Amino acid sequence: MSQQILDLLGVGVGPFNLSLAALIPKSEKVLFLDNKPEFSWHSELMFEDACMQTSYLKDLVTPVDPTSPYSFLNYLVAHDQFYHFLNTDRKTISRIEFEAYCKWVSIKLEERIEFDSMVEDIQFKEDRFRVFTKTREFDTKDLCIASGPQPNIPACVKDQIGPNIFHSKSPNFKNLNLQGKRVLIVGGGQTGVEIFRNTYKGKWGQPLEVTMVTGRDNLRPLDEGPFTNEVFTPDFVQNFYRLDQKTKDELTENLLLASDGNTPYYLQEVYNELYMDKFYRDQKTKISIKPARWLKQVETKGSNSVVSLENLLNKEIEILDVDIVVLATGFTSKLPSFMNSLENHLSLDSQGRLEFDQEYRLKTDLDRNNIYMMNFSRHGHGVADPQTSLMSWRSAIIANQVTGKDLYKTIPSKNTFLNFFN
Ligand SMILES: Cc1cc2nc3c(=O)[nH]c(=O)nc-3n(C[C@H](O)[C@H](O)[C@H](O)COP(=O)(O)OP(=O)(O)OC[C@H]3O[C@@H](n4cnc5c(N)ncnc54)[C@H](O)[C@@H]3O)c2cc1C
Repeated sequence: MSQQILDLLGVGVGPFNLSLAALIPKSEKVLFLDNKPEFSWHSELMFEDACMQTSYLKDLVTPVDPTSPYSFLNYLVAHDQFYHFLNTDRKTISRIEFEAYCKWVSIKLEERIEFDSMVEDIQFKEDRFRVFTKTREFDTKDLCIASGPQPNIPACVKDQIGPNIFHSKSPNFKNLNLQGKRVLIVGGGQTGVEIFRNTYKGKWGQPLEVTMVTGRDNLRPLDEGPFTNEVFTPDFVQNFYRLDQKTKDELTENLLLASDGNTPYYLQEVYNELYMDKFYRDQKTKISIKPARWLKQVETKGSNSVVSLENLLNKEIEILDVDIVVLATGFTSKLPSFMNSLENHLSLDSQGRLEFDQEYRLKTDLDRNNIYMMNFSRHGHGVADPQTSLMSWRSAIIANQVTGKDLYKTIPSKNTFLNFFN
């Protein structure tokens, strides 16, 4: 049974709530719960060659508090790695390094984080939220939900998910055996390309064939131009928030490659490997990349999958017979089921999407209690919302709100070089 009322309870300890946990002062009564036994970051997709798409300076805290003990630079100093890291001359770090850094921060914050705690339900009673895990209950004034998005599974294959057809964020990768198999990867975003590369390199055994299909017309690099990157500034996000929804939706669509493109050097490496394999080595696996293809249907025949794809260029249907289908089809943001009991307090837009105020608070009918959510407002706050680029700035806004103090400077500088709005 709960004893005291918390100021804030956070659900989920991925990077986003970890950043908030690192920025809220020790004096506040806060607790963050996560179902995992310890910090890990998309462990299913933790490949040796996977790199962050954002600078290591955009860590959990540095952009709003470079003096914080929870910075990546402090992690390097604490581990006697500082000079050696600089000698690597890198602007970005691998996902393995980012996970290790976050885990180190989570251990430093262990007094305010409880792992092995799956939130099952949240109810609102009188003046507080009551949060239920299997074994415990907590009372809190405010909530911050950062439980991550859900795998996006195409409707045509929803009923066939199993050991041979699965989403990229799946425990199936642990004991996967692709030796001698025909593999189809659906999706050519960064995760799709990483799975494609690791598959043909034999990470899960050497397959006979690997095909990657993407609905896009090519494997497109991330747009990392300096002017494009101005959209990952507080100034842009605050102005974007004030636009009407139709303009926001169009702008978000146009900015797709600013957030969802492939890491350019990774594409270069894959291309070079394919070139060397084709012209100088014995190709161990037959490889095919098919752009402009849309998954229409999957029929299972024994352990085989007969896949129908529409060629978006000539409109013809193509059939592929494969053993394994990996759906690198991204993620979707929807209300987590543990919030179902709160549903009638929430405000939705005409498309059924959650509505937020500028400070990442859900619009509700509650007077005194706040539900902050992180990574649920791409439609409201723009393409930076699911990215780590501005996570510390967003956490600083929430920390200021929760404490009622101006702990961090969050008002945009107005120093942007692109005057979209001013
Ligand atoms: C493979 C991959 C690589 C990425 N790389 C980058 C990158 O380089 N740069 C970038 O800007 N963005 C990147 N992103 C996008 C984004 O930054 C990450 O998805 C990030 O992890 C989002 O953080 P989060 O805290 O919202 O969610 P998550 O990291 O998904 O964490 C959510 C946590 O909540 C827990 N949880 C869920 N439900 C419950 C519950 N009921 N009770 C308790 N706990 C619960 C989960 O176990 C998990 O630990 C990447 C995304 C993926 C999938």
